[in-house]
Amino acid sequence: VIEIQNLHKSFGQLEVLKGVDITAHRGDVVSLIGSSGSGKSTLLRCCNLLEDSQQGEIIFKGEPVHWTGSGSHRHPADSRQVLRIRTNLSMVFQQFNLWAHMTILQNVMEAPVTVLGRDRAEVEEAARGYLDKVGIGDKCDVYPAQLSGGQQQRAAIARGLCMEPEALLFDEPTSALDPELEQEVIRVIKDLAAEGRTMIIVTHDMKMAADISKHVVFLHQGMVEEEGPPDAVFSSPKSERLRGFLSATQ
Ligand code: ATP
Ligand code: MG
Repeated sequence: VIEIQNLHKSFGQLEVLKGVDITAHRGDVVSLIGSSGSGKSTLLRCCNLLEDSQQGEIIFKGEPVHWTGSGSHRHPADSRQVLRIRTNLSMVFQQFNLWAHMTILQNVMEAPVTVLGRDRAEVEEAARGYLDKVGIGDKCDVYPAQLSGGQQQRAAIARGLCMEPEALLFDEPTSALDPELEQEVIRVIKDLAAEGRTMIIVTHDMKMAADISKHVVFLHQGMVEEEGPPDAVFSSPKSERLRGFLSATQ
């Protein structure tokens, strides 16, 4: 579904991604691991075109992003394509970014109704279904501030699902949570993985990554240092840097 080829991204003089390749086929769970500053969030943001990149290809369902300009002047050329890709790759952030002035149900319904122009009654039914699925069906009419962090993050996941995206992109979905709340969210993510959803997950949780991933990518200073199935990456890492990283995260 998503293919990244030789992606380069700089912020001014700072080269953050130095030729990254990543593929997530339909139904794959790909985990992105690596130290702070290695470029994981930036890569995820480039995937759904929240960030421009200077070189390399982003291919969504076989369709390469059309660019205009080059180097630091490169931008996506087709705003409809950007919208199509962005709405098909729902991003779930570390901070859940729920709208404080809207109820949980309104939060989940907002984008499908306003961005996709879908029928309000149908979206409401779907939204209630997704909130049930993540275990907070009884919280439809309350405001985000009235939920625990774990519940807010599950609401954010329901909001992502309600766009009916091709894939979900998670940026450290559990790192703002206490350990007990973290488990609630991990359970939801595991359920989604078992359903065969395509997901790219940036995580510091090696246990979850080992548990649910088809493929694990270790990013080091903007390059893929090592990748493979979780048992290879976690049980017999080849790279010295990956070994160091794993022993530091134990
Ligand atoms: P963490 O695990 O701490 O979340 P990360 O792997 O997600 O780290 P990124 O957030 O992708 O790392 O950042 C990679 C590098 O890019 C860092 O050196 C960061 O300072 C830099 N960077 C990120 N966003 C910007 C920005 N908007 N402007 C300038 N530099 C940035
Ligand atoms: Mg990050």
